[in-house]
Amino acid sequence: MNIILLGPPGAGKGTQSQTLSAKHGLVQLSTGDMLRAAVKAGTEIGKKAEAVMKAGGLVSDEIVIGIISDRIDEPDCKNGFILDGFPRTLAQADALGSLLESKGKTLDAVIELKVDDGILVSRIENRARETLAAGGTVRADDNAEALKTRLMAYYRETAPLIGYYFAYRKLRSVDGMAAITEVGAQIEKILSEVRQA
Ligand code: AMP
Repeated sequence: MNIILLGPPGAGKGTQSQTLSAKHGLVQLSTGDMLRAAVKAGTEIGKKAEAVMKAGGLVSDEIVIGIISDRIDEPDCKNGFILDGFPRTLAQADALGSLLESKGKTLDAVIELKVDDGILVSRIENRARETLAAGGTVRADDNAEALKTRLMAYYRETAPLIGYYFAYRKLRSVDGMAAITEVGAQIEKILSEVRQA
């Protein structure tokens, strides 16, 4: 099963992807994680992406589409994957459709995590505080200024994908404000419905 988790920064995509990955053996494909790894490793892609990521902007479509296309070809993706943070623009969504088709793969569901906008900033601030308390390193883009840019990028570029996938009859929505386990249960219900369809 191949699915997309869609939602603004702080909606819980990463948390839910990890649970789904552990439960169903689906591979979590987070373009954010891949790009952070590239920045850390100092690769060409990392060098191109670093400044724009730090500011909270979007990395070019060309770069992220290339990353995802290569990653989907790896053998561990054969049994299914969860796209977390991709696609983020209409151009990425179109490219994803074409590349899945060319690879003979399907998109089974797009699950939107619906959250109240007002909660996002405090969720992300809490994530930074918890990371610090645990002795970890806070993401370079988990600060007020970059967060504003990330939210703007979401509303401008990514939110239109909700209508896009609705039109494709792929969209399913869950209440992302519910407790983590409840959100997980709603997603499980959708997956079992999709499996039976
Ligand atoms: P995330 O971990 O998903 O919040 O992503 C962190 C940052 O990586 C984003 O703010 C963007 O700068 C970049 N990024 C991740 N995924 C994409 C994407 N699909 N398109 C463009 N930029 C992305």
